[in-house]
Amino acid sequence: MDVLVTLDAMDRWTSSGGGSVGLVPTMGFLHDGHLSLVRRARGENDRVLVSIFVNPTQFGPSEDFEDYPRDTDRDCALLLAEGADAVFIPSVEDIYPAGFATSVTVSGPLTERLCGASRPTHFAGVTTVVARLFGVTRPDRAYFGQKDAQQLAVIRRMTADLALPVEVVGCPIVREPDGLAMSSRNVYLSNDERAQALTLRESLLLAQRRVTAGIRDASALRDEIVGLVARQALLRLDYVEFVHGETLDPVDTLSGQVLLALAAFVGRTRLIDNATLQVDE
Ligand code: AMP
Repeated sequence: MDVLVTLDAMDRWTSSGGGSVGLVPTMGFLHDGHLSLVRRARGENDRVLVSIFVNPTQFGPSEDFEDYPRDTDRDCALLLAEGADAVFIPSVEDIYPAGFATSVTVSGPLTERLCGASRPTHFAGVTTVVARLFGVTRPDRAYFGQKDAQQLAVIRRMTADLALPVEVVGCPIVREPDGLAMSSRNVYLSNDERAQALTLRESLLLAQRRVTAGIRDASALRDEIVGLVARQALLRLDYVEFVHGETLDPVDTLSGQVLLALAAFVGRTRLIDNATLQVDE
């Protein structure tokens, strides 16, 4: 596996080999959720490239950029075992060189709602870095997790709007055996916090059960989830919303496929989770 730590090395790798390239952009501290993307890319491309870059511009001023967990040696060992062909580990100066003056922004409800309401600069950071990574690595396909459902919707929008020649592939959420969605940030959780964090997943399962039982009123179901989360002393709900999976428009009466997305602080750690509810007509 090639470990590419400069733009020149990255460029040579892209120019040298043939066939299709699948890119898996990550911030590192890899877990099985990331590796599921690598496996999917492995099955669909001639070469698999994983990027590891903790992108400063997608963190707000009081967020965890400095503390974000990092372990590139371990990450490289995991990627080698998964059969990745190369890992790109750029510096901040590689991604944002002197004179860098461009911001790529998807505007409107797609980035203003849900996570965008409490993290107003986050998605511009994401789209800018992903656009730059697409330019630098020139992939045929790029793999993103449904775990970050809003991010996936925003990147699909950007890629379509800018007619970028990259196929964006969404991949299912990978969970711990007890149901907690895998996240690099789970290492922040104490035992008590981790136990209470399971309420997020329980809320999603409760919603699907209620829908199966015939409930169609999103607001009533939302209230029930708010009540469930409020019973956990270490949880503070940021949002829980029923929305259309692509447009993220709010849904009042549940029908068809509905994305239930939520975010909560567990102690000081902000976690997100979501489920696509199947609502029989
Ligand atoms: P991150 O390193 O957190 O920026 O994540 C890199 C990519 O992995 C993103 O596309 C995430 O959506 C995806 N990802 C993170 N956690 C999971 C998970 N539990 N299941 C599936 N994909 C995930």
